[in-house]
Amino acid sequence: MTPFVSPAAAALWERIPADSNWVFGPLALCKHPAGIDLRHRDDAGLDASGLRSIALTDLHALSQVDALGRFRPNKASPNLVRSWFHVTPDAPALEAALDALLPGGLADWYAVHSASTAPISWQHYADRQTGMYRNVAALNEPEAEDIARAGCHPHCCTRQRLWTVGERPPETSIEKSVVPCLEPCALLLELARREQKTQATEDRSTLILTQSELSILDNLFKCALEHPDASLREGDLSSPGNPRRILLLREKLLPWLPAKALGRAH
Ligand code: SF4
Repeated sequence: MTPFVSPAAAALWERIPADSNWVFGPLALCKHPAGIDLRHRDDAGLDASGLRSIALTDLHALSQVDALGRFRPNKASPNLVRSWFHVTPDAPALEAALDALLPGGLADWYAVHSASTAPISWQHYADRQTGMYRNVAALNEPEAEDIARAGCHPHCCTRQRLWTVGERPPETSIEKSVVPCLEPCALLLELARREQKTQATEDRSTLILTQSELSILDNLFKCALEHPDASLREGDLSSPGNPRRILLLREKLLPWLPAKALGRAH
């Protein structure tokens, strides 16, 4: 019996270029004599003889934890384990592999590809929140922009943010990948909740630093992001060492930083 080919899988299969790697979230997709080769985007172009072949049935387990065995709450995070590859023979198998590695990625890509959805604005999303998240609507526009830049920074996520915040345009696929993000995820929402609570309840201090001291501070941000505490979990936003919280503090200081050590998210 011929397997069912969904319109999304068929469209994606056709869209993958014949002669180059195509970055899809944390993955690189590439045409292969036996179908489509999937692997970590940072392994694109590497000889497969140096990578381990992973079966379809093992892809889900592979996507669950990072190289240190910590749970990955965001399957679009670049912290996907490296040094493996998987070859899918046809479009249904490609869909099954993507379901295991990046749930929702194909459906969201197809929704944008076929122009059947419209991303929402931060304020619209925030106004819908209830319970412990209802106060995120009180964040002002600059605060919400800082949260979006920090929470969705390429260091943390490979999805292209299409939902809008303030006057800031959505991200481009060149900055991230063609896998869109249509509305804020749970990690972003939790970052926003903590930030709103902090702004509403904590005292402020005044600090005066020289340019040299600011350069040191920016290098410290870079070190903290490149060498995080191995015991920290990505989803633990209560930890001051969480990368999204470090990036959020850096966003606030960015107007005064030399902005050379890490670059800026859009
Ligand atoms: S809200 Fe940001 S961090 Fe969350 S999935 Fe979308 S782009 Fe990624």
